[in-house]
Amino acid sequence: MNIINFINRFPDESSCVEFIKNQRLQQGVICKRCSCTKQYWLENKVAFQCASCGFRTSIKSGTVMENSNLPIRTWLLAITFISATKKGFSAAELQRQLCLKR
Ligand SMILES: [Zn+2]
Repeated sequence: MNIINFINRFPDESSCVEFIKNQRLQQGVICKRCSCTKQYWLENKVAFQCASCGFRTSIKSGTVMENSNLPIRTWLLAITFISATKKGFSAAELQRQLCLKR
């Protein structure tokens, strides 16, 4: 996917959330507390909720985004940059392109 495809495919944060949510559902979301695999999606919390114990799993939990406050769209854009560039993308270049401080 190149940057133009990215902009069309992911025009805003909610389209990115939707994408990650579906990816995670395909792989299966497992409750950390009781290992139940039946999960409900909580739209307003941007998290999954376990059907048996009610434990919530954030959409970023268990992914590279886990300890990050960055929008999911920024992550997807970063991944797109890295995969769209044949020669590879340095961390510094990524930071510059995404206007990130660190
Ligand atoms: Zn559970």
